[in-house]
Amino acid sequence: MPTIDSQRMGVLICASAMRILILGGTTEASALAALLAGDSRFDATLSLAGRTASPKVQPLATRIGGFGGADGLAQWIAAENVAAVIDATHPYADQISANAVGACRQAAIPLVSIVRPAWQPVSGDRWQVVASAEAAAALGHAPRRVFLSLGRLDLHTFAAAPQHSYVARIIDAPQQAELPPDIRFLQARGPFDLAAERRLLDDEKIDVVVSKNSGGTATYPKIEAARERGLPVVLIARPDKPMGHAVAGPQAAIDWLLHATPRSLRGV
Ligand code: NAP
Repeated sequence: MPTIDSQRMGVLICASAMRILILGGTTEASALAALLAGDSRFDATLSLAGRTASPKVQPLATRIGGFGGADGLAQWIAAENVAAVIDATHPYADQISANAVGACRQAAIPLVSIVRPAWQPVSGDRWQVVASAEAAAALGHAPRRVFLSLGRLDLHTFAAAPQHSYVARIIDAPQQAELPPDIRFLQARGPFDLAAERRLLDDEKIDVVVSKNSGGTATYPKIEAARERGLPVVLIARPDKPMGHAVAGPQAAIDWLLHATPRSLRGV
């Protein structure tokens, strides 16, 4: 049975826990949620864009959907008394990161951004790095069997290259009307292992892979499998993603917040 003092202490710690917002939708955000769940120094909310119909259940309070630009995010931060933001969004999600920079500046609170390093080419890789809008043209004129490993929102671009046969791996079924005529969907959620990626490229007789340079390990095996087979990869260039204080991973983000924010916000 806890004593009154320890109960009071518990209330005091909860009352002064640092209120933080995690902008998520990535492996790093899930890792952060696992690290912060049950950590009484923090009172964290995870925010998801709502891009997938049934997102992975997280051990933190979760909200889903846009805020309404930088101003909407700044209003949410003020209303929720948020003391710091961790941007753990995908390397290609540049709009929400720009909003986070603007909103944290307005609210005068710290922003720490987890930056996932891009994959670097190694011997045997046959990469063609292109802007998103050029990816369909980069496949060339002759019909090819193409593996699209992209978000479902990016698939319409390939309607401009209807001569190819596409296999697209997606989490949820696409809703856009404009798609290439010969496209099949494989519904799956990463991570994907090398054996499965080898099988996929062989079974589907893939000639070329189209991918983002997502970085990390969860989706890298398709790049390895393509390299082993000498297949070309059309790699969509990363956007210039705005950021706050850049760190390499979830623990570094927490460590930085503990040093960058006033003691009064840390419950100490
Ligand atoms: P985005 O272009 O940066 O954001 C577009 C809008 O979505 C934002 O302005 C914001 O709306 C809302 N939003 C994005 N992330 C949010 C979050 N964590 N919480 C609340 N609202 C959020 O990002 P995107 O459209 O989601 O994706 C851009 C690229 O990133 C795509 O290539 C996609 O495949 C890739 N990607 C995204 C995710 C993801 O979870 N978002 C995961 C993997 C890959 P408001 O302005 O209304 O606040």
